[in-house]
Amino acid sequence: MSDTIFSKIIRGEIPSHKVYEDDKVFAFLDIGPLSKGHTLVIPKEAVPTLDRLSDESAAAIGRVLPRICRAVMKATGASDFNVLQNNGKSAHQVVMHVHFHIIPRFGEEGLGIEWNTTAFDHGAGAALAKAISANL
Ligand code: AMP
Repeated sequence: MSDTIFSKIIRGEIPSHKVYEDDKVFAFLDIGPLSKGHTLVIPKEAVPTLDRLSDESAAAIGRVLPRICRAVMKATGASDFNVLQNNGKSAHQVVMHVHFHIIPRFGEEGLGIEWNTTAFDHGAGAALAKAISANL
């Protein structure tokens, strides 16, 4: 359990601009938007990172996330958007409650991305793919 500002928002102890709620999911406008319509979609289950989320909450978010994306796009008029999900401080996570950012893109306005690719080794890649599979 991680009781953060987002748990307080779910409980209504802190105000938010709510856009969606069901028994497992809550969505509201980000208070520090990267662009108009920047929305956060969160599970009501209070866990810090995605790898700790239950299958039930993950399924509930997966069911509704595309619908909320469509609603954000329709309401803002954006045609492109990013979905961002940070896990851990070094990965830019500030609030330790799982959340998905929906960030509409309007020209230069939106999520800034630095995509620093590294070399790929097929031998090491084959071993790594096996190791990941074995851990599922
Ligand atoms: P992250 O860096 O992925 O942890 O993002 C946390 C996000 O939560 C940031 O984009 C903040 O602007 C947003 N945020 C923090 N507090 C609030 C709040 N009270 N209401 C809405 N959004 C918030």
